[in-house]
Amino acid sequence: MDGITIALSKGRIFEETLPLLAAAGIVPLENPESSRKLILPTSRSDARVVVVRATDAPTYVRYGAADIGVAGRDVLIENGGEGLYQPLDLKIARCRMMVAVPAGFDYEHAVRQGARLKVATKYINIAREHFAAKGVHVDLIKLYGSMELAPLAGLADAIVDLVSTGGTLKANDLVAIEHIVDISARLIVNQAALKLKREKLAPIMEAIAGAVEP
Ligand code: ATP
Ligand code: MG
Repeated sequence: MDGITIALSKGRIFEETLPLLAAAGIVPLENPESSRKLILPTSRSDARVVVVRATDAPTYVRYGAADIGVAGRDVLIENGGEGLYQPLDLKIARCRMMVAVPAGFDYEHAVRQGARLKVATKYINIAREHFAAKGVHVDLIKLYGSMELAPLAGLADAIVDLVSTGGTLKANDLVAIEHIVDISARLIVNQAALKLKREKLAPIMEAIAGAVEP
């Protein structure tokens, strides 16, 4: 495609990217929450948005099916950001990757005893590295959603998950006990597109950069 294709996931990334795209004169003409369309036209005839799963955004951009996109650092760390330019921290979708356990679970004691902790998470690679660096033995259990349920249902002792307000943890009697890494969303750019479509992409990237909160 001649124009610019932008990969965005529905929900918070879409919502929080809107003002940044608007700064580049790009306004999607349909709302992905109410439309079933997966390719959204925008106010600019040379720009469109493809609506993807959050974990798929880097794949669309890496292969050039989208020229630019937005992806959480969690996704980029967990699945690798190879082959992508990541020129800009957009400072949106901010949260923290944490270890959480049921209130009352004596994590320090369990760790001191050298027990094998059962840890449920969507972020197997991030969790493996975190516990390996601490020398804590873990059995990792891969989940695809609702990590908070795992300790309550007896599937795991602990979870590794994203936390923003802590409301979901609290509602499920869990407490965050270890901070792993701060997360926010980044602009991701296809390397070939950056060269071949520089005339179009550079002003868009500049406008977005200018709209990022200081
Ligand atoms: P799906 O909900 O479709 O299963 P998902 O959980 O990856 O996919 P979102 O919940 O919209 O989709 O999360 C998208 C991105 O937003 C995440 O990759 C992360 O970077 C960020 N994010 C996730 N949870 C929070 C949160 N509680 N607060 C702020 N940002 C978050
Ligand atoms: Mg989610």
